[in-house]
Amino acid sequence: MSRYWIHSAPSDYRDDLRECARADRCANPRIETADGKTTRLPALTPRAFCDSCRLTIAKALSDLPELFIRVHSCLDKSGQTSAGPVVSVSKSAPVPVSLPADELLRLVLAVLVSWEERVRAVANLVELDTDTSRYRRDGVALTQAWTTLATHLDVLLALPEEPMMRAVSLREAAALPPGTKGLVHRTAGYADVFMNLSGADAGIEILNLTWRCRSFLTDTRPKPRHMSGVPCDCGFCDLYEALDDDGQFAGATCKRCGNEYTGDAYRDLTKAQEAVVKKAGARRRTVLAGAGDDTRSRRA
Ligand SMILES: [Zn+2]
Ligand SMILES: [Zn+2]
Repeated sequence: MSRYWIHSAPSDYRDDLRECARADRCANPRIETADGKTTRLPALTPRAFCDSCRLTIAKALSDLPELFIRVHSCLDKSGQTSAGPVVSVSKSAPVPVSLPADELLRLVLAVLVSWEERVRAVANLVELDTDTSRYRRDGVALTQAWTTLATHLDVLLALPEEPMMRAVSLREAAALPPGTKGLVHRTAGYADVFMNLSGADAGIEILNLTWRCRSFLTDTRPKPRHMSGVPCDCGFCDLYEALDDDGQFAGATCKRCGNEYTGDAYRDLTKAQEAVVKKAGARRRTVLAGAGDDTRSRRA
């Protein structure tokens, strides 16, 4: 039998409370102490998620379009990034493309579009024309799916279990209960399987997608540059460039003592260093001038 999360409940509603579907990751856990031992338990809620976790999911969903654009800008491996509008990432993708970025974008799209279809059916929205939806450009598909989900988040999170197609690794597929229907693509190393998914799974999937986009973007961020030749106040030349969220220069951090310099403080540091270098250079020139005749005769 399928579970059915109720949409809304009166404030005095107490029956049939269940544990928040985020389980041990619940943002508002109950802390229970027994025999001097403290345990964190998920919040009790009449819905799939407690209010705090619902807020976390809403925030994750609202962050997704921007993350999608940022991952999309990593698609072109030639290093040109654009913050421009989302363009098609499938059929007409430029080559060479970054495969991890491409895979992640397809996953975000597939998951959001699959939930969009289910929400449309439940919320009595006009169903998308199959032909049109098949040829929707990815940017358009993402915007439409996202808008539907964001405006009907509670409908989404209250969806009952229903079989939905998901691509999983062969190892995950092997761990699924016997009798699970699907198609194994052995050479490609994955399987398309039908899983019974509810609104609780939708919330978890949205959180996972956001997390995967974020970790993809952090992983592909260039390694901090060593600012060689500029000593920190601690005396060691162990300063590394610090970048802000947009990848712009934001100062430097010392790996030795942990001192952080803002952009201005770092510039002051380099100015001080330039002065030292200039003074040293002048001293060297004086020495060289003394040995000037010698140098010239050797060059000749
Ligand atoms: Zn929770
Ligand atoms: Zn230092």
